[in-house]
Amino acid sequence: MQFSDFGLERRLMSTVEHLGFNEPTQIQQQAIPAAMQGHDLIASSKTGSGKTLAFIIPALQRLTKNRALSKRDPRVVILTPTRELAKQVFTQLRLFTANTQFKAVLILGGENFNDQVKVLEKDPHFIVATPGRLADHLTQGHFYLNGLELLILDEADRMLDLGFSKELSQINKAADHRKRQTLLFSATLDHAQVNEFATELLTKPKRIAIEAGHTEHKDISKRFYLADNLSQKEALLQHFLSTEESQQVIIFTATRSDTERLSALLSEQDVNAVALSGELNQSQRNQIMDSFAKGQHKVLVTTDLASRGLDLVNVSHVINFDMPKHTEEFVHRIGRTGRAGTKGDAISLVGPNDWLSFKNVEAFLQQTISFDKVAGIKAKFKGLKPKKAKVVKAKVDTSKAQKTATKKKTRVIKKTFVDLQDVGAMKIKKRNKPLSAQQIEDSSEQEND
Ligand code: AMP
Repeated sequence: MQFSDFGLERRLMSTVEHLGFNEPTQIQQQAIPAAMQGHDLIASSKTGSGKTLAFIIPALQRLTKNRALSKRDPRVVILTPTRELAKQVFTQLRLFTANTQFKAVLILGGENFNDQVKVLEKDPHFIVATPGRLADHLTQGHFYLNGLELLILDEADRMLDLGFSKELSQINKAADHRKRQTLLFSATLDHAQVNEFATELLTKPKRIAIEAGHTEHKDISKRFYLADNLSQKEALLQHFLSTEESQQVIIFTATRSDTERLSALLSEQDVNAVALSGELNQSQRNQIMDSFAKGQHKVLVTTDLASRGLDLVNVSHVINFDMPKHTEEFVHRIGRTGRAGTKGDAISLVGPNDWLSFKNVEAFLQQTISFDKVAGIKAKFKGLKPKKAKVVKAKVDTSKAQKTATKKKTRVIKKTFVDLQDVGAMKIKKRNKPLSAQQIEDSSEQEND
């Protein structure tokens, strides 16, 4: 199948050609025609599979072919869980709107509110936004959604995991035109809240499941190494950075203090490394992301802040210095490499503190993972054994025992301890107190920090 088979509007087709894309990816092959026919969609697709264009192309096609439902209201709203992903989507969108009359704006948490009010007053056709900030503008009447034609939810699973359901419902209710179409993308369709939400938002949706999150990404080779402790992890890191043929490298750590510490350590070893953490303000983060994207640094050390939305073909290696707390993050982290048909390496270091997360990833990938070794760096740690059933001898009431001499004097109580593997299969995601929309948006940028 070719893009020309979709019957795209001329300018849209010329942008696709200009980008050098001939064949639509799998998700594009299925989602573009279904969305162009006007169906609501619930679609899953692996990271880096081209899903952004799977919704941008039908959105632009609809706008060029149909008259606007309202003169002032936005025609398309695209919501994403994080600012980084929103920027990524916006960049791709701008490539397509550049030679059209359509205006697109980006509305993110953490940026100047009043500037955004001015931008919204100019009646943009497209809004790409994170849900918390957009809901704030909606509440304050800075724009209306009654004429909205297309609501697109990118990574809906993550938005719901981050607690944005209230804002999504608010936006959904405000976008009340009967001709509204909704496209929902999620890393997985096996997500109870996503399915519940889909019932609320979508009308007779087409379900498209290309490849579930756990399926093998053929362009990314995964390797796992055991490590006893921090210094062994650092020795492994140094080994990989000095021996692997690499272009750019992203290293993921569990905490923000580790990002600073590791990048300082690497700089001492003459590695051009930079740290990105949630502690930095938005413009500092943008600056670091931009300079890394321009190739000014070899290594980016970050928390899960950058696990989604960075689309750089020069990232040859992702190194999980610590395993991610949330299993799905593993897929998103390693999806920063092997983009757009390039090959990538994903290396994960597993110490005693990572064991539970590692078992979760193993269960999620539905495969038994074996560990690779580096000569000269030998880990004593071989993984934690699930605790065995423990046999406890109970004390027996001697008076009763005397009455029934034939009965055994002891009784065995088998106390089964929770098997680590069972815990591994569970998803543990709880937040104690409800957070404000802004706090949620900020925390989505600072996970694991
Ligand atoms: P996404 O999954 O949307 O983040 O896209 C991943 C990367 O694939 C981006 O760099 C896109 O520009 C690129 N891409 C999207 N569609 C195609 C296509 N049909 N052929 C080749 N590359 C594509």
